[in-house]
Amino acid sequence: MKKSIFLKIFSGYIFVIIILSGLILAFSFTKIRDFYIDGTTSDLKHLGIALETSIVPLLLDKNYRELDTLAKTIGKRINTRITVIAVNGRVIADSEADPNTMENHKGRTEIAQALEGGVGRFLRISDTLKKEMLYIAMPIKSENRIIGVLRLSLFLKEMSDIINHFRLNIFLITLIILSISLFIAYLFSRSLSRPIKELSSASQKVAQQDFNVRVFLKSNDELKELADSFNSMVIQMRSLFAQLTHQKEELNSIISSLQEGLLVLDRHDKVLICNDSFRKMTSKVQTEGKFYWEAFREPQFDELIKKVRNTRQNCVEEIEFNQRVFMCSATLLETESEIAVVFHDITEIKNLERIKTDFVLNVSHELRTPLTAIKGFVETMEEITKAGEGRRYLSIIKRNTNRLINIVADLLSVSELETKGVSPQFTEVDLKDIIENVLKIFDQRLKDKAISAQLLIEENFPIVFADPFSIEQMFINLIDNAVKYSEKGKITVSLGKTEEGVIIKVQDTGTGIPREHLPRIFERFYVVDKSRSKKMGGTGLGLSIVKHVVLVHRGAISVESSVGQGTTFTITLPNSKSVR
Ligand code: ADP
Repeated sequence: MKKSIFLKIFSGYIFVIIILSGLILAFSFTKIRDFYIDGTTSDLKHLGIALETSIVPLLLDKNYRELDTLAKTIGKRINTRITVIAVNGRVIADSEADPNTMENHKGRTEIAQALEGGVGRFLRISDTLKKEMLYIAMPIKSENRIIGVLRLSLFLKEMSDIINHFRLNIFLITLIILSISLFIAYLFSRSLSRPIKELSSASQKVAQQDFNVRVFLKSNDELKELADSFNSMVIQMRSLFAQLTHQKEELNSIISSLQEGLLVLDRHDKVLICNDSFRKMTSKVQTEGKFYWEAFREPQFDELIKKVRNTRQNCVEEIEFNQRVFMCSATLLETESEIAVVFHDITEIKNLERIKTDFVLNVSHELRTPLTAIKGFVETMEEITKAGEGRRYLSIIKRNTNRLINIVADLLSVSELETKGVSPQFTEVDLKDIIENVLKIFDQRLKDKAISAQLLIEENFPIVFADPFSIEQMFINLIDNAVKYSEKGKITVSLGKTEEGVIIKVQDTGTGIPREHLPRIFERFYVVDKSRSKKMGGTGLGLSIVKHVVLVHRGAISVESSVGQGTTFTITLPNSKSVR
């Protein structure tokens, strides 16, 4: 149960007040009793001194009867018990009892003290009278010799009566003081707890986003300082909160006006934020707080999210959904547990690309037949035309026709690959077979140029999961270049394994590529030396086809080259599972 601060302070005060009152009571009772006993002792001593003069002659005369009578007479009058004891302890006079019936008093503490010369004092229950009594014993001296002991004793009943009377009064006074103290403690506790309560309820309101609350205290102490700081803190919080709300609204309007779909997932793959474009895309009204797959069921997307979580790297993937194509860019946020995905609708771009590819494919197809016919007729005309100006023109026409045929062939390859790129036909492929077949195509040209070719295969080289047609195109282009740009030397194709997949190297000892051209050689129609490339029948499309094939297989390609020494193309293809 919650204990209020008022109760805590108040109960603390009550505890202290009660303990103090108890201590004061106990202390005052003992002090009063001690004070009374000390006063009575002193009175009795004076009485003893007064009596001594009457007792000494009777004691010296051994007139014990007279002495007893004296004790009885005076004792009754002053309401005090008077006892005279001989040095041997025998009681010789007593105001209350017959001395002959009384036992020897030598052993009594106060008597023993008096016999030693001092004034003995003792408080005990009287054997004779069975009541609590105060005993004072003093030696009776004659010529500096102790001749007996005078003992005076008093009932303490009177003292008890006085103390009891006092006790009642003290109790009453204590009760009054206690009540006043408790009342003051109550007021004090309330004055202490009230500002704390006010501060507490104000902070509860602030927690519920009520920033108009203020605490005003009348006091001028630390609590007032606290309240002032609290008030200025709330004012600051209000402006910060307004700023934040404004920023949030701005951000929300930016997010919702985005053309791209936006989806932010938390660590459990639940939707934290999604915008209207995403909702439109998935045709769902409300998706926040739910698992993303309740709104967006797409295995490719699941794979993308898994990949980002596993690799802890940002990934981009083309995903087809509801007959539309999206470029999904998934980013791992700084917290490293949330993922933001942007869906860029590229359906139109894809359609245009398809139209362009179809167009190029159709044009290439249409151009191939007339070009082959032109080539055929030019060759026939070459045979029937005599040497001279006409022959020269015919050879120019033939060279350019060949070039056109090459361009058309390469364009066809590019278009076919692009069409395949959308749905490549992956199957188990033995790279060794493919390379051997490709090398056969170049057999004659290799012999003509006296270039040797070798194929190095690492032991247990695996069967690769790939598109055989594209892979063949890739090798044709790489080996064609190696032959084209080498005059002699050798071409080495090597196949090796890595943890991630396979590594393919096509190396030649040809002309090499100047360093400044290396970053651009994979671009379409890019040639290093135009006249040389033309002479060789190059189109500038070969390496772009190679790069395209590598990308379709989710691999990577790099090139190292030094002029006059040769060129090495290195291709890595991931293992079959990730390609699939
Ligand atoms: P091309 O049809 O002109 O060979 P590519 O796209 O195949 O076009 O090659 C682009 C350019 O890269 C070429 O013009 C050539 O200069 C250079 N190149 C490609 N492969 C090699 C190689 N093995 N050795 C030297 N240069 C090369």
